[in-house]
Amino acid sequence: MKVQRLFLAVLLAVILLPCTTALAEYWGSKKSDKFHYPSCTWAQKIKPENLVVFQSKEEAAKAGYVPCKVCKP
Ligand SMILES: [Zn+2]
Repeated sequence: MKVQRLFLAVLLAVILLPCTTALAEYWGSKKSDKFHYPSCTWAQKIKPENLVVFQSKEEAAKAGYVPCKVCKP
């Protein structure tokens, strides 16, 4: 029973973690100077190899990125 409960907790963490972290970060592309909310249409089009993840708007701005005009992060 204990093992089952642990398994359930791990499973829940794996499912929930990406959701909560996705809300707290911003996505940019190595091919452009814009950064987006991960939910933005344009953020979805960024290829994984070009994806740059920022933890805050300040971090993105410091790296020389400007807010996307579509999702307005
Ligand atoms: Zn955007």
